Amino acid sequence: MPTALITGANRGLGQALVRSFATDGWRVHACCRVPDKSLDLRRVAEAADGLVEVHRLDVTDDLQVRGLARSLEGEPLDLLFNNAGIYGPREGFGSQDFEAWAKVLQVNLLAPLRMVENFVDLVAASERKLIANMSSRLGSIAENRGGSSYPYRSSKAALNMATRSLAVDLEPRGIAVVALHPGWVQTDMGGEEAALTIDESVAGLRRVIAGLTIDESGRFFDYSGAELPW
Ligand code: NDP
Repeated sequence: MPTALITGANRGLGQALVRSFATDGWRVHACCRVPDKSLDLRRVAEAADGLVEVHRLDVTDDLQVRGLARSLEGEPLDLLFNNAGIYGPREGFGSQDFEAWAKVLQVNLLAPLRMVENFVDLVAASERKLIANMSSRLGSIAENRGGSSYPYRSSKAALNMATRSLAVDLEPRGIAVVALHPGWVQTDMGGEEAALTIDESVAGLRRVIAGLTIDESGRFFDYSGAELPW
């Protein structure tokens, strides 16, 4: 039975990914900051006949990340999905909140790397050997014509670069690492006017993930499978 670990699983895309993988018979480690308050996720887990295990995980907390990795030792992880993310302040040039910017980098850039460093052996021991980093089109340098959103854009652009380095460094172990853009999606982050429903985005992401091999490693895809420029 394939196994996935998904961060930021209590709401939005993360929660829908958990439901989707579990529906298809995957075992899922669903990670969220406050399991006791994540009632929807607990309902998903209850309906999944033991396939979904909920874990407490703030991805910026080194001790929690190490502890979870230790507790899963010996369990191969076919897919590590670094989904958790924050947008941060939207102020334009001239009014940056640098502390808030640093927080965005902690969650969107450093945390995925911390997750990979801690879970890489479990991924290497699996059959599928996939790592997906949830990026964003807003992190594409080539496509930036809108400016602004300095914290979010820079965090996802840097995550893209880290994804590429990981792909190079982990290739000898047979691990594929990709950056994914889910589309503009109706979540708390995307807002109600977003173009895609969560289910449309997740269905697309699942198709893309299903087709990934080591040949796609180090690339940046959107939910439709189209390759995006860095
Ligand atoms: P939401 O805001 O709906 O959900 C974000 C999730 O990340 C929540 O589960 C949140 O948990 C979790 N999270 C935030 N900080 C931490 C942390 N320190 N530790 C653990 N979990 C944390 O966002 P989406 O579902 O829309 O976004 C998911 C991913 O997709 C993000 O990486 C985002 O950047 C990306 N994305 C989304 C787009 C969209 O249009 N929606 C477009 C492009 C990319 P909590 O409830 O505890 O805050």
